[in-house]
Amino acid sequence: MMHHHKPPVDPAELEHRNVRQGEFWRDVPAYEHVDEATFLDHIWQGRNSVKTPEELFETIGTSVDPTFLEDAKEGFRRAPMAVRVSPYAIASIDWTRPYEDPIRLQFIPVASRLLPDHPRLTLDSLHEQDDSPVQGLTHRYVDKALFLPLQTCPVYCRFCTRSYAIGPDTENVDKAPLAKTTDLWKAAFDYIASRPEIEDIVISGGDTYQLAPKNITLIGDALLAIPHVRRMRFATKGPAVMPMKILTDTAWTDALTGVVERGRALGKDVVLHTHFNSPNEITWITQRAMALLFERGITVRNQSVLIRGVNDDARTMTTLVKRLSWINVHPYYVYMHDLVKGVEDMRTSVQTSIELEKAVRGTTAGFNTPLFICDAPGGGGKRDIHSFDYYDRENGIAVYSAPSVKPGQSFLYFDPIDTLAPEAQARWAVPELQERMIAEAVARGGAKVAALA
Ligand SMILES: *Cc1c(COP(=O)(O)O)cnc(C)c1O
Repeated sequence: MMHHHKPPVDPAELEHRNVRQGEFWRDVPAYEHVDEATFLDHIWQGRNSVKTPEELFETIGTSVDPTFLEDAKEGFRRAPMAVRVSPYAIASIDWTRPYEDPIRLQFIPVASRLLPDHPRLTLDSLHEQDDSPVQGLTHRYVDKALFLPLQTCPVYCRFCTRSYAIGPDTENVDKAPLAKTTDLWKAAFDYIASRPEIEDIVISGGDTYQLAPKNITLIGDALLAIPHVRRMRFATKGPAVMPMKILTDTAWTDALTGVVERGRALGKDVVLHTHFNSPNEITWITQRAMALLFERGITVRNQSVLIRGVNDDARTMTTLVKRLSWINVHPYYVYMHDLVKGVEDMRTSVQTSIELEKAVRGTTAGFNTPLFICDAPGGGGKRDIHSFDYYDRENGIAVYSAPSVKPGQSFLYFDPIDTLAPEAQARWAVPELQERMIAEAVARGGAKVAALA
């Protein structure tokens, strides 16, 4: 019998284990003299967040290309989202290459890279406001509800899917109100209690990192007390942008642990969902924070957004998935970028997602392999990227249906126009041709659904 020996592993295969070490923040001029205890203090992180171009200039100093700084100043002015970046995120950026950096790209807008919006784009792309029975609650799927108890975040993502509501008003957008007060929370709990089909609550926002510990307890215990609620997830970008809070805001971490433990005693599952997009967001601080949650038996799952220039190549996506697995975070979803305003430069095509899924599957455990999905604009809900009824690759139109969510309707996802061939780009410039391309794609998708029925 022949034995086949695998050749020694290529060190590049282990890249995901090279988690950043040391006092890396000292490379940033403003943090040069900041010691570890200070940098790990979540209050210091919050107080020193960068919100204006002036604060950015003071923090990163004159070492950065002045063209970039001017570009960012104009970017801040034109962005639909307010800017707020934690020192941790600032320190994770490679300031020698700010244009290419995947963390800069997510949080700091630059005017020169902005592209015109797709003509079919709307501000509330997921129609969360249409499926909302009470303010701050979206009930789209039968057994799940999305609770939005607040509208602030530790850091604002440029590409926020809720830019219709999240963060302070900007020059371009007046924000819609979500459930801000405990009275509105009470109305949401009453609605959930009145609907026996709801078993699963996503608590998002805003960001649950911003909830005071007593409110983590208040919300968690109110939901645990509803007999038919069996599952709960607290959603936060926090671990990707301010992981030290898990370590130093002990009241917050203990409040979460308390809800998890009381849930466990009741036979109910309470977990944390987070949002890492780049392997560069994960450092030794993240690893230590996730180890603490792991020790306490708290499950952490990750939902990434597929973003051009951040994670849209096979090597980066694979490194991200394997690095998350390495620190005991389960990769759950990779979303197509929502069709939101002002971020056309960050979107990719459905075809890109299909190719990435193929590249990632097989590189690690199946339970750590994320599902690549499209949260169909218009309220169709999440669809497996491969499950389109029709995909016109030439014009960048994917047609999905969602029989268990909104039967009989078609939902469309549009690839970014600048990634299409010049002839297709020319067609999108003519409104009558837009209508014709879309009608044809919908008809073909409908024909496929009818043929399968
Ligand atoms: C994403 C989402 C959920 C949760 O869906 P899962 O697929 O279970 O993660 C629930 N409600 C709304 C409105 C959502 O957008």
